[in-house]
Amino acid sequence: MTAFEAAILDVDGTIVRGEELIPGAIDGLRALENAGIDRLLFSNNPTRGAAHYGAKLEPHGLDIASESVLTSALVSAEYLQANHAGESIFLVGDDRLRAILENHDLTVTDDPDESDVVLGSFDREFSYGTIWESLRALEGDTQFYGTDPDVTIPTDEGEIPGSGTILAAMEAVAGREPDSILGKPSKMAAETAISRLETPPERTLVVGDRLNTDIELGNRAGMTTAAVLTGVTERGDLEDAAVEPDYVLESLGEVGELLE
Ligand SMILES: [Mg+2]
Repeated sequence: MTAFEAAILDVDGTIVRGEELIPGAIDGLRALENAGIDRLLFSNNPTRGAAHYGAKLEPHGLDIASESVLTSALVSAEYLQANHAGESIFLVGDDRLRAILENHDLTVTDDPDESDVVLGSFDREFSYGTIWESLRALEGDTQFYGTDPDVTIPTDEGEIPGSGTILAAMEAVAGREPDSILGKPSKMAAETAISRLETPPERTLVVGDRLNTDIELGNRAGMTTAAVLTGVTERGDLEDAAVEPDYVLESLGEVGELLE
């Protein structure tokens, strides 16, 4: 009989690396399923909705329903829908994120002088023009949010700049920090995950490869946390780390050991 009723699982570096499934991931997902634990996949990717991960994992024999997937794009859209419906959102971010916001009936404006809310995120088109528009959009008491704090994103071609880098530039030009960053490890992200799972934090396990997002979210929310060594964190990084997981697993394949 396990102490857990639900598990929040990171995706990149925990279940997949690029397009490849990480060895042991399927075993880990099955072990959770066999123990009757509800699984929620939670990625800080700010350019994807739920359907993407179902489609990505289906060829590997995994049937993941959209209700069982969260991304920082979805958390941001749900938060803005609850708190800023009808307001004009100036987005520095990907076209797919814009579509996700619009699908949540949010109003995205291209005019920085019209913005009530600014959302900063991963943006491949980021330029001098973007930062100039950000300066104008962030004037006054405009609310300033970010989708996720990830400074870099691991890809098959090595690391690329992520939302955290874009937000740092916006923060520099505006002379102020974002009011909130909505993806992992924020309180909003934890609350969104908890309400999806309908499970108290003390009966929830978080597994992920990033200490400052996955493990930090779980530690702050009072969940049990397990770091996997299949992504950005290596065993040596854990020695002096400011954020400490309850458990360290070589891979998600070992998660069954925590359920006995
Ligand atoms: Mg990860």
